[in-house]
Amino acid sequence: MIAQPEEIKPETSWDVVIIGAGPSGSIAALELARAGKKVLVIDKESFPRFRIGESMLPHTNRVMERLGLMDRVRELPHVVKLGLEISFGDGRRDPAAIPFDRMLGDTIKETFNVRRSLFDQMLADAAMEAGATYRFGESVVSIDHLARGDVRLQLESGPIQANWLIDASGQACVLGRHFGTRKLLEGYQNVSYFEHFEGVDRPSGDRQGFATLAMCREGWFWMIPIDEKTTSVGVVLDDKLARLIPVPANQRLDWCIENCPLVKHRLRDAVGPKKNQVAGDFSYTCEPYAGDGWFLVGDAAAFIDPVWSTGVSLGIDGGMQSAQRIIEVDAGRMSASAASKAYGKRVKRLRSSFLSLISNFYDHSFRELLVSGQSRLEIDAAVVNMLAGEIFEGVPFRVRWRWEIMRWLKEANRHRKVVEWIRPHSLLQSGGIMLPGSQSGVFRGIKRRHRGQPSWQPS
Ligand SMILES: Cc1cc2nc3c(=O)[nH]c(=O)nc-3n(C[C@H](O)[C@H](O)[C@H](O)COP(=O)(O)OP(=O)(O)OC[C@H]3O[C@@H](n4cnc5c(N)ncnc54)[C@H](O)[C@@H]3O)c2cc1C
Repeated sequence: MIAQPEEIKPETSWDVVIIGAGPSGSIAALELARAGKKVLVIDKESFPRFRIGESMLPHTNRVMERLGLMDRVRELPHVVKLGLEISFGDGRRDPAAIPFDRMLGDTIKETFNVRRSLFDQMLADAAMEAGATYRFGESVVSIDHLARGDVRLQLESGPIQANWLIDASGQACVLGRHFGTRKLLEGYQNVSYFEHFEGVDRPSGDRQGFATLAMCREGWFWMIPIDEKTTSVGVVLDDKLARLIPVPANQRLDWCIENCPLVKHRLRDAVGPKKNQVAGDFSYTCEPYAGDGWFLVGDAAAFIDPVWSTGVSLGIDGGMQSAQRIIEVDAGRMSASAASKAYGKRVKRLRSSFLSLISNFYDHSFRELLVSGQSRLEIDAAVVNMLAGEIFEGVPFRVRWRWEIMRWLKEANRHRKVVEWIRPHSLLQSGGIMLPGSQSGVFRGIKRRHRGQPSWQPS
């Protein structure tokens, strides 16, 4: 039933309603509350709650510094992240280092890994202290009217009204599903299995705090230290290939670890649950990203792939940008249509830059270059800039031309050995899974993604 404005009591009327109290929603709430807006954040879960996505980009530090929250981050159990290391999963070569201190230019060269339940709670606390109201354990039942100055929602507890709506509902994509705009991203039908472990062997010395990526033919693993004892471990696999693993979905992480020498070695003394968590269908977009009285931020707008740890950074950028545009429009300094156009353009630009970084990672030739390092002309340094996500305010020329050379080398390496050609480790083969003829199409799909890389062929 559509709620009529006269039914709305004053305490149910807000300047801005935000669906979702993750980093995207809380950063928007904080910025708006500090500007004196009456903000309501609703979240269907009670906090603190588990979330995957513990590894940040240096951009997150920049935003935390700007908002005066960096000291509060430092008070949380966390691990300082000074780079990452990357390797093929067979463990035959030492992982290659991608240290942030190689980055070109005067930029922030560190970030952090943190347990998300604590980080998200800290952001929500900061927004509440600034004056935002939070209601946990409350869901949106329906969106009854959506226009600037007249947003009407039904919550489980009754109707509410607002001038603006920010959808920060994460993968639930409340508005994207309401509009029917949520579209899965072709070529990224992946699934992920993950858990927290204690006692995982970590990189030491100048690689302390590095996240480790281990690449296999069917996908890749992450190992991310998040506090003194705990390491987040997960694997992302091509969905069709994951289905060939002969154990239930909630036991596949263990199976994959067993069949990946590098990860198995790192977890040889580790303790963790036998059953893992599962996430699927996480690559999609819900364009358009803003409209009459509403913004989509963070995962509610789009998500591609977790490989370069871009999710939280994109979310907090969206939270800040949407809040600032609402403040500008309400102050009469910007028209509403210019605000939603500019916001949509920024989300689109960032999404397509990160999509290009991610699609390179799924290209075997690029992986070979990455593990070999390309230090001539400081190409490796420019690659670190890109992988550290230093693209939010555009890519400086000194980084851009070197990155273009890297892309050119990637194409050349398919045909002539620019670097050592490496046969990727296969989890399925290691697990003794013989592919029936009918599955060869699946491998063709993978091969297409690696665009004819000659250094290996599906068996
Ligand atoms: C396997 C995997 C690994 C990842 N690893 C990383 C990583 O290392 N680094 C990184 O930066 N990112 C990573 N990500 C991405 C990261 O998890 C997300 O980008 C990030 O959590 C997005 O934040 P958000 O605030 O947009 O959404 P969320 O943090 O998901 O918050 C959304 C909130 O909305 C609430 N909600 C949903 N529906 C409703 C409703 N109807 N009513 C009320 N509330 C609702 C939910 O309860 C939730 O609390 C990873 C993602 C995956 C899938």
